[in-house]
Amino acid sequence: MSRLVMKFGGTSVATLDRIKRAAKRVAREVANGHEVIVIVSAMSGKTNELVGWVNETSPFYDAREYDAVVSSGENVTAGLMALTLQEMEIPARSWQGWQVPLKTNGAHGAARIEEIPTANLDARFADGMKVAVVAGFQGISPEGRITTLGRGGSDTTAVAFAAAFDAVRCDIYTDVDGVYTTDPRITAKARKLDRIAFEEMLELASLGAKVLQTRSVELAMRYNVKLRVLSSFGEYDETAGTLVCAEDEIMESNVVNGVAYSRDEAKMTLLGVEDRPGIAAAIFGPLADAGINVDMIVQNISEGGKTDMTFSCPVDQVARAKKSIEDAKASGAYEFGELVADQDVAKVSVVGIGMRSHAGVAAHMFKALKDENVNIKVITTSEIKISVLIDRKYMELAVQALHDAFELEKIGTA
Ligand code: ADP
Ligand code: ASP
Ligand code: MG
Repeated sequence: MSRLVMKFGGTSVATLDRIKRAAKRVAREVANGHEVIVIVSAMSGKTNELVGWVNETSPFYDAREYDAVVSSGENVTAGLMALTLQEMEIPARSWQGWQVPLKTNGAHGAARIEEIPTANLDARFADGMKVAVVAGFQGISPEGRITTLGRGGSDTTAVAFAAAFDAVRCDIYTDVDGVYTTDPRITAKARKLDRIAFEEMLELASLGAKVLQTRSVELAMRYNVKLRVLSSFGEYDETAGTLVCAEDEIMESNVVNGVAYSRDEAKMTLLGVEDRPGIAAAIFGPLADAGINVDMIVQNISEGGKTDMTFSCPVDQVARAKKSIEDAKASGAYEFGELVADQDVAKVSVVGIGMRSHAGVAAHMFKALKDENVNIKVITTSEIKISVLIDRKYMELAVQALHDAFELEKIGTA
């Protein structure tokens, strides 16, 4: 029998009524002849509340207990979804991550999936179970402790199950009806894409578009999972939503397909660093050891043997980054004049596989920002994306200006 994975995000299971509505969609797929694995998130807002409680209780918390607490929201919705399905006379039961078991490494708070043995669920399906409801976001470490997969991790749970159980498709039900040219909350001109290539979705996700967790896209690409994003609220039909698929399944690609943003960035500059071989390794080695997610890096032209080194990182890592740098300086690893942290920046990026074969995209982007008087602080590019760091107060304006400049409102169907 064919297997289908259906994932419901926080807003789709936010109330008992919404769980019922989601369960009706599951019932329809069961009636269509599928065995269904449902992955649920916690009710919207719940995980934030749990994270808040952990931080309030213990600012430098034990990551194993953090996971024990923040994974719990999904336990509630998994049980409620199973009960709702049972009320509809559909044979269903819930599974917490450790019961499956969804095995991860021991990186608490950002664990990676290592294996999902299928025997337990297979045996139940063979016994007549129609729906396995699995708590998303959580797993079990080699030490037998509960782990979580990083914020937004239920998407990754869903894709991993689709790969492990050889599902015909992985449907991600959320509060928007697909992947848009940019976050529809930022501009009403955003357009839904019928299809998007894995590579583009991977860039958009890692550059801030939270509609899919980056890891989930990586996994879908690696295991060629048919991945669809659609709304749990709108009318359903076979062509609803956005299909995330291989590049060769898309007829023609636009030069730019999307604009992404990441609001909470910081820019750190070390002024007057000695310019000598090994200086970058001396600075960024300890930052990596401290778990700082360094993103963009720029080194200025050197003058008199001194240079300035600038990098960006998430704003909530600034305190830790500063400590790492000051500690390295105190230990004599390197010297510099001053450390300046700008905590009011955001990153805005344009993404498109069509960029590979088009020149002038960066110039077009910079002109659009200039026309709005937005100053660019740092630039990075790759084959299919260009990112800039700007003052946070101009973020929305920049996203809208770039959406206009690349005429993205002309894309798609919605
Ligand atoms: P869920 O709780 O269902 O996992 P998320 O809040 O994690 O939902 O992701 C959906 C949100 O992603 C949307 O409400 C939207 O604001 C945001 N988003 C950001 N960029 C995009 C984009 N390019 N297309 C669609 N949604 C986007
Ligand atoms: N509930 C978790 C979070 O809010 C996981 C998820 O929703 O995907 O991050
Ligand atoms: Mg999400």
